[in-house]
Amino acid sequence: MGSTEKRRAVPELFGSMVFNEDVMQERLPRDVYRSLRKTIDEGKDLDLNVANAVASAMKDWAVEKGATHYTHWFQPLNGITAEKHDSFISPTSDGRVIMQFSGKELIKGEPDASSFPSGGLRATFEARGYTAWDPTSYAFVKGDSLYIPTAFCSYSGEVLDKKTPLLRSMEELSRQALRILHLFGDTAVKRVVTTVGPEQEYFLIDKALYDQRPDLIFTGRTLFGAKAPKGQELEDHYFGAIKPRIAAFMKELDEELWKLGILAKTKHNEVAPAQHELAPIFATTNIATDHNQLTMEIMKNVAARHGLVCLLHEKPFAGVNGSGKHNNWSLSTDTGKNLLDPGKSPAENFQFLLFLAAVIKGVDEYQDLLRISVASAGNDHRLGANEAPPAIISMFLGDELTAVLQAIEAGKPYGGAEPQKLATGVHVLPELSRDTTDRNRTSPFAFTGNKFEFRSLGSAISIACPNIMLNTIVAEELEQFADALEGAEDLQPAVLALVKKVVEEHKRIIFNGDGYSEAWVQEAQRRGLLNLKTTVDALPRYLDKKNLDLFTSHKIYTEAEMEARYETIMEEYAKTLNIEALTMIDMARQDILPAVSGFLAELSGAVAAQRAVLPDLPCTGEVALIAKLSALLDTAFSQTDALAATLADAHAESVNALTTATHYRDVVIPAMNALRATVDQMEENVSSEYWPYPTYADLMFRI
Ligand code: ADP
Ligand code: MG
Repeated sequence: MGSTEKRRAVPELFGSMVFNEDVMQERLPRDVYRSLRKTIDEGKDLDLNVANAVASAMKDWAVEKGATHYTHWFQPLNGITAEKHDSFISPTSDGRVIMQFSGKELIKGEPDASSFPSGGLRATFEARGYTAWDPTSYAFVKGDSLYIPTAFCSYSGEVLDKKTPLLRSMEELSRQALRILHLFGDTAVKRVVTTVGPEQEYFLIDKALYDQRPDLIFTGRTLFGAKAPKGQELEDHYFGAIKPRIAAFMKELDEELWKLGILAKTKHNEVAPAQHELAPIFATTNIATDHNQLTMEIMKNVAARHGLVCLLHEKPFAGVNGSGKHNNWSLSTDTGKNLLDPGKSPAENFQFLLFLAAVIKGVDEYQDLLRISVASAGNDHRLGANEAPPAIISMFLGDELTAVLQAIEAGKPYGGAEPQKLATGVHVLPELSRDTTDRNRTSPFAFTGNKFEFRSLGSAISIACPNIMLNTIVAEELEQFADALEGAEDLQPAVLALVKKVVEEHKRIIFNGDGYSEAWVQEAQRRGLLNLKTTVDALPRYLDKKNLDLFTSHKIYTEAEMEARYETIMEEYAKTLNIEALTMIDMARQDILPAVSGFLAELSGAVAAQRAVLPDLPCTGEVALIAKLSALLDTAFSQTDALAATLADAHAESVNALTTATHYRDVVIPAMNALRATVDQMEENVSSEYWPYPTYADLMFRI
């Protein structure tokens, strides 16, 4: 990146590497542009002549930006993005090359791609997978390639990615929401889209220290590590002044994201030492998903340029907060109206109340799906650990909306809340009006004024799955509402009756109190809410009949596709834990146990040397330490062997994905925890000269 480029004004920089609306208008013949727009807006098929013209313009533009290759960029089931690069070169008869890119190459790709997880959907002998251009997400140039966002499916049409079902769920939600809006007489609206603003948490640590820790390299988290003397208890990191090295990283990150048209907006330090957050301005769900994937990748790349490593794992360090992702979600019309905006008087805003009721009913009926959508081995460390919302799904609505719904349930008029002013008591400060919804940081699913904030997501996952679930669930409820209301003679009373019924039947899901408290766990159990603590508890419910019915009836997935997804996630859970356990065993046997032995030898030698001078010296401290460490070392040796044995059992006893995953949760994880506890105790008692790894204090505070 040249320094002149660095000094470009932000509006000029923004989107400079994106084949966006402006570029299309400027570079495409008018009729080509119009056909493409129709494809983007209305999903009309693109004919090959148009595709050829678009491809050629895209290629010329990309080559000017320094691209020599193109890639169909897609999102396979493993939650990261995939790319394979082809150059634009094409030989001429006289032995030269020209840069060429056809409409066919733009629209359809055929990566061999036989090694992506498919949950058994694709036998490798027929391993063909196809990528198909998604014209609703702009192409862009990154490095030396033109990136074309694509969907990925198998030879026989089964969906093998996260983008296709996401697009389907968005279309389905739009279809059902339009029915409701038409009932309310809104005929101008043509489309409803879901919007998402994902706030992303991450850690930054020093690359030289990272390189010394096999656990970070192989698993993204520390598998051993005694607590540092200082953690997050002083609350001095949250929103604290940003260190120069981190600020330089953040500045470059912003610029790189802006170039790609990503609306990076807010940055700050988070609660844990070395933890930070970036929030973009929201976009339509499809774009927000692509952009969040890019953001995570670019965070890692930019970190490397600053001698840093960006950790996106949900729990890099025990004892301090892990990282999550807040999925701010709303619905808006193509005419620019936010359907979750209650307006000044929500009690009289029947359309809003109906959409609100759809979300309430959906979240209650499909708690399991929302929980499943955030399930991973990494996120199991956070949910319910007093740093993230519990594994119990509930909704926070705030005082005003709760009171409005209570009034509807009781059949009484709503008295209304007086608009309140914030009294700062200082005259020079402007008078602030108070939001009617306050924040509740402990709720997994909180109404925050004109959107819902789904807070249970782990930092590393793709936001596609939670949004597929949300969109489909709400589409289902809106469909039921539209079916019930389309025949109604008088809309308003019918809506009120429907909302009343929803409140009566689903109010158990609404909880405005402290979601981190033990009292809530008890209360939630009394209310009959699910508490699916681990991935292994949650995932089997994916294939419950009601969930199969939901996704197949809205044509988001086939049953085979759902079974495949279930298998893939379950296997990924077991594989993740297997890698962690193997890494622990290696670290213990190759580094930690020998280090402690070495230190014991030195200590023993020191005692012997002292006694050679004065045979009666007690050497009390050293002798006690030798006894203590030697005992811990014996324990660690046998715990390492025991852990290895649990892995052997996992492979021997594997019957299906569920039994294997259950074994990892119930047998392997406890063995890992036991070994870690012993090793961490040894770390606290071994000379730092002998300890083979950078400590928690080094990793979190030496930046
Ligand atoms: P905070 O949660 O810290 O109070 P904000 O409420 O300003 O911050 O926004 C948090 C995130 O919610 C941002 O990414 C923002 O763009 C996003 N957001 C705001 N409005 C909407 C909306 N209508 N739909 C989806 N996301 C939204
Ligand atoms: Mg937030």
